[in-house]
Amino acid sequence: MIQVVKSLSIVVIVSAFLGGCGYLLGYNFFAILGITFIGQFIIYDLFSRWRRSGLEIEFRRLENERIKAFSEQGLEVTCPVESCMHKTFVPIIISEDNEYDCPKCNVGVKIYVGTKSFLKTTPIDGDPFEKHNFVTNTDYDN
Ligand SMILES: [Zn+2]
Repeated sequence: MIQVVKSLSIVVIVSAFLGGCGYLLGYNFFAILGITFIGQFIIYDLFSRWRRSGLEIEFRRLENERIKAFSEQGLEVTCPVESCMHKTFVPIIISEDNEYDCPKCNVGVKIYVGTKSFLKTTPIDGDPFEKHNFVTNTDYDN
């Protein structure tokens, strides 16, 4: 509320000043006051529109960059339905649940992303994820 009063006061002071200048140049004070009063709102509106469109463009650009970055991070996964086994490239977001609908059999598939660490010197034989449970992120004991 105080901000509005302050802004309006500035608008009135600027209009009165310009009206005074106009009066000294022989124009009607109230005509100049009215025109500059409305003019300031029009200028402010145009300025804020211009600024908003600039911000909008910047926001869209950042959003596009983000989408591009996400689309570059993905995995080729195989559909778990045994009669399908269709391979699809799916974008992966580590911090979120990853799901997709199989484009071939149209079933909903959930993707679990697991990690496993090894000492650099340890040779790895075969598939390191052979006995790995991705749901609990631990190895099956057997
Ligand atoms: Zn499928």
